[in-house]
Amino acid sequence: MERPDPPAAGHVNRGDEFVGRISALLDTPVDARSVAEFLVAADAVGRDFGEVMAALSRAKDEDTADTAAKEAYLEFVTQVYPRVAPLIDALNKKLLAIDDFQPPADLATTWATMRDEVAVYAAANNDLLAQEAAYGQEYGEITGSLRIDLDGRQLTYSEAIALLEETDRDLRERVYRAIEAAKQASRPQLDALFAKLLALRSRIAQNAGCATYRDYAWRSLHRHEYTPGDTLTMHAAVEAEVVPRLRELTARRAARLGLAALKPWDLDVDVAARQPLKPFETVPELIAGMKRMLHRLDPELVDHFELLQGGWMNLEPSPNKVPGLGYQGYFPKSRRPYIYYSVVGTNDDLLTMIHEAGHAFHTIRTQDAWPLMSHMSDRAEMNELASQGLELLTLPFLERERGGFYDAADARRSQASLLVRALRLLVAASRFDALQHWLYDRPVEAAPPTIAEIDAKWLEIWQRFDVGVDYQSVEEARKKSWQIVHVFLMPFYYLEYAIAYLGALQLWERVLEDPAAALAGYKTALALGSTRPLDELYRAAGIEFTFDRGTIARLSALVMRELGDEV
Ligand SMILES: [Zn+2]
Repeated sequence: MERPDPPAAGHVNRGDEFVGRISALLDTPVDARSVAEFLVAADAVGRDFGEVMAALSRAKDEDTADTAAKEAYLEFVTQVYPRVAPLIDALNKKLLAIDDFQPPADLATTWATMRDEVAVYAAANNDLLAQEAAYGQEYGEITGSLRIDLDGRQLTYSEAIALLEETDRDLRERVYRAIEAAKQASRPQLDALFAKLLALRSRIAQNAGCATYRDYAWRSLHRHEYTPGDTLTMHAAVEAEVVPRLRELTARRAARLGLAALKPWDLDVDVAARQPLKPFETVPELIAGMKRMLHRLDPELVDHFELLQGGWMNLEPSPNKVPGLGYQGYFPKSRRPYIYYSVVGTNDDLLTMIHEAGHAFHTIRTQDAWPLMSHMSDRAEMNELASQGLELLTLPFLERERGGFYDAADARRSQASLLVRALRLLVAASRFDALQHWLYDRPVEAAPPTIAEIDAKWLEIWQRFDVGVDYQSVEEARKKSWQIVHVFLMPFYYLEYAIAYLGALQLWERVLEDPAAALAGYKTALALGSTRPLDELYRAAGIEFTFDRGTIARLSALVMRELGDEV
């Protein structure tokens, strides 16, 4: 297979070109017979546009000190986007208005997405959405300048986080406090930025004719399968089923570490005082290990993984990368996924690599099966099943004997850390989601809450989902722990991780019974892209799209059983 080189950063503004090409599509007649051909032509424009956007975004993330890259990205989102958005709206309306046309089954969700986009579109929002994206860049700059000073030494965020696994408790506390001190410095800026974002979002929802920003977000995220009320019910189920189990794990951990109270810097250290897991030292070792492990799981997945080589991964840590940021992007013209992260050699890094590889496999399997970009999944509930599903599917192969990175005891430790992470994530997601319901379920004309009110609400939510960790003397860190990238830049996007973990854990139930069937279902579902609704995609993977209390109880009990005495 040919290997295109990654596109150069190319600080080029191609706004005029895209306006011209989309305008030409708008001038092209389309009817029920010619729609397929029309979609292929529109797809070519969309791929070029997506490629430019991905390249600009990549360039600024790979070197936050490159001001030209930052300017080019900002120019594109603030100047090109507002010019292109009305044309895309017109294109959506043109397609939706075709006489006597019923989209084929594989495009039904595409048509539903277009209906959502037309419903929330407002010309008055184009500049506001561009402003929101510019605020996003500002968030990146504020958090990107984080410099952690430990005992006179400068650490990157990834390096500091890794030290929280060290067995020396004093060191862990100093590291935790150093990270917090660094964050503390930027909090006034983040508070001010969030206040601006809230006000902006009220106006966006108002312009779109929505009663609340939550209504706007629901429609923009295409959440047709569940209501806000369903997610509130899910929070209550997590509170009832997961919080008590995590409290039990917190108590067990404190007892095994011989501590009266578990502090936030005691969460990642090994309970038997073993040294931190070190699955690999260098990026090439990580890549080689991934291939070995995937080969034992399924050789076809190694072929997928190979497509990332030749410049489609940026994994080396650097002070000029965005701290803690990891993602899989897509270059639609090159037809390549792209993985961005900073690895330092921890178990968490390995897990992140597996996670992002799962996203990449989803991209590759869908693009191999379907011709259009609109066939690719844009639903996080499914995308995160692809990534988190792979985390669970690779569990039996973490052992070196089976292709992986660890001896048998360390493989058990690594598995336990993933299972605990899944439980913690169910709780964290419920917290962040509960906060956002409170933030955004209010009339758009009402004044947004103040930062002090948000801090107070967060404390109330924290107490509701309290898993027993003691934040006394680091109260400020807990108080501001709502300030994560998702809350700033991706409103309501977080619960999907929890929903998808419930799917991934169901997949793991299948792995324990019939690994071949679990893998086959996973691969089938990934290749379906967005061509089916979520419940059918999950069913294709052999699992149910559900977050009811019974499922949460059954899966949490399974996790506790499989953890054994590992935690
Ligand atoms: Zn992900």
